[in-house]
Amino acid sequence: MLDARPVPKSASPLVQVEGLTMHFPIYSGVLRRHTGDVKAVDGVSFTINAGETLGLVGESGCGKSTVGRALLRLYEPTAGRVIIDGEDVASLSPEALRKKRPTMQMVFQDPQASLNPRMTLSRIIGEPLDEHTDWAEAKKLDRIHELMDAVGLNRRFANRFPHEFSGGQRQRIGIARALALDPKFIVCDEPIAALDVSIQAQVVNLLEDMQEKLGLTYLFISHDLSMVRHIADRVAVMYLGKIAELSPRDDLYARPLHPYAEALLSAVNEPDPAIAAKRRRIILSGDVPSPANPPKGCNFCTRCPKVMDICRTVKPDLAEVEPGRLVACHLYTNTSAAGSTGAPEATERNQQGETR
Ligand code: SF4
Repeated sequence: MLDARPVPKSASPLVQVEGLTMHFPIYSGVLRRHTGDVKAVDGVSFTINAGETLGLVGESGCGKSTVGRALLRLYEPTAGRVIIDGEDVASLSPEALRKKRPTMQMVFQDPQASLNPRMTLSRIIGEPLDEHTDWAEAKKLDRIHELMDAVGLNRRFANRFPHEFSGGQRQRIGIARALALDPKFIVCDEPIAALDVSIQAQVVNLLEDMQEKLGLTYLFISHDLSMVRHIADRVAVMYLGKIAELSPRDDLYARPLHPYAEALLSAVNEPDPAIAAKRRRIILSGDVPSPANPPKGCNFCTRCPKVMDICRTVKPDLAEVEPGRLVACHLYTNTSAAGSTGAPEATERNQQGETR
């Protein structure tokens, strides 16, 4: 059996992200001069409590996968701090980072692409053990079998190659590999996006089972808002490299505050008939601006149905506008802009919804 160490969902953060910034330089001209930056992630801050699942959602290209990679330092962050279990991963030396790796792992989107086609299943799952332990072969094999049992893979398949497995089984291999070193924190980067719908729930249930048994903490990145609703405790909505809203799951799905979150969620099937009856589909016009040239003010001002003058010049800060609910929008944080009654008035407008 895997070492069961259930950790109750606590209010103490295992992961603290402060001002995480990931800019990719643009070089152009014959002299390859640095002419700008793609601001893929632009000052993102959040925490994830031990044993919690934070969902990270947004449209393609909003920077959510880049956040996941920068958190585990698969990319070198341009700025910011990423404190995981008390250590700032963003500033660790290469050797210290290597020692830290076992505690933080990733489950990738495409199990086909993330598994070496020339390695057998036991070598794939055992690779982190080769890298980070000096265990004897017999002990490693025991651990590999234990992991295969835990994720529902038959031990008889240990010497098979990735192409001999289905998509769902390949994702189970990826999960077993991520669990090999007994991590505390796992970034799940669109772990079900490449799977058939019929298999998706099985993989999500497996991730939930593993979390319960092992007390894991997840960042669950997905564009599938229905699946995030199922698995996440809190949800952060990203737009153009920034967090627009971060709220407890039920609050967000029942009453999104940020106009972008409201538009995004208006397209999701609502199981509660009372909420569904009030909700109207919001179709946003216009395209997402380029992350190389974001708007001067609020990133969402070019598409926001509730845009105000201040939105075009002043960037809104992410601020707590209700207990546990963080929103980056002048409707809530700038009382003069939102009217004399401030946020409550804005909230009321939000509840009424706007359609375009
Ligand atoms: Fe819309 Fe302004 Fe709020 Fe941005 S700050 S989401 S543009 S109302």
